[in-house]
Amino acid sequence: MKRAKIAHLFRIEPGTRFRSKDHPTDYSDAQPLRHLSGAELKERARDYVQRNLEKLSRAQELLYANDVYSVLILFQAMDAAGKDGMIKHVMSGLNPQGCQVASFKVPSAEELDHNFLWRYQRHLPERGRIGIFNRSYYEEVLVVRVHPELLERQKLPPGSRGKGFWKERYEDINALERHLARNGTLILKFFLHLSKEEQKKRFLERLTKPEKHWKFSAADLAERAYWDDYRKAYEAAITATSTPWAPWYVIPADHKWVARAAVSAIVSHEIEALGLKPPQIPPARLKELEAARRKLARE
Ligand code: AMP
Ligand code: MG
Repeated sequence: MKRAKIAHLFRIEPGTRFRSKDHPTDYSDAQPLRHLSGAELKERARDYVQRNLEKLSRAQELLYANDVYSVLILFQAMDAAGKDGMIKHVMSGLNPQGCQVASFKVPSAEELDHNFLWRYQRHLPERGRIGIFNRSYYEEVLVVRVHPELLERQKLPPGSRGKGFWKERYEDINALERHLARNGTLILKFFLHLSKEEQKKRFLERLTKPEKHWKFSAADLAERAYWDDYRKAYEAAITATSTPWAPWYVIPADHKWVARAAVSAIVSHEIEALGLKPPQIPPARLKELEAARRKLARE
């Protein structure tokens, strides 16, 4: 399948309503993957990821050389959906000098003393660079919406905290993203869409395999109890913030390698679509280079 087609397949068209149940978490059931066994599927996906990472590496070089655009790639998901592994694999195709990762945890006292977008803006990538967000400002309309007590810690002016409040947060996020896009940031937003059954399987693995024990936290199980609230919060947020300048991609995440294949295809394709060329060297600069070459050759 062409990368443009993959991007189209998983993109939430702006203005349409995102419903979780309309989107598979297990794409290995779909054509053209259906006939492959588990091992074949993994191997094929692995090769495909590798090829995309080579394209991504070339695209990143042009991004860096042009120093005009930046790329923000953000990942949101339920626990154990594979964000960390995804970032590790996408990063492995990038030059570390042109790339940065920020992970967002529970906000600090200092962060809570600022507007809700502040702490994320400080980590936005500069021109020529790729910034990866492991969680993002979307937590402000996801975990904070599911747990209203978190909102109480944000020291906001008094007012209703009903639907209108969240609508305003979506508007603020859309406005921020539009500002970034107009200023040269390509924004790619991924929701790693995991089934509740697959999460259970992965949690059980963390509890039974000693080498995976460190990955388990009791908080993960507590959040699982809010599965349906999260689903609703994701549906509302993605519906309201999939925009022409910053669309969402909903990636089936029950098979880690299928998810990585899809993300690697979309990221490499969308950066290439900026149509960057190696920067033109002005004639005066070419003359300087030629003079330097002659001088060095005469030594
Ligand atoms: P992890 O990514 O597993 O290290 O967990 C980070 C934790 O920080 C998760 O439980 C998130 O829900 C939480 N978190 C991230 N951003 C926020 C936020 N803005 N407000 C409250 N909790 C957050
Ligand atoms: Mg965690």
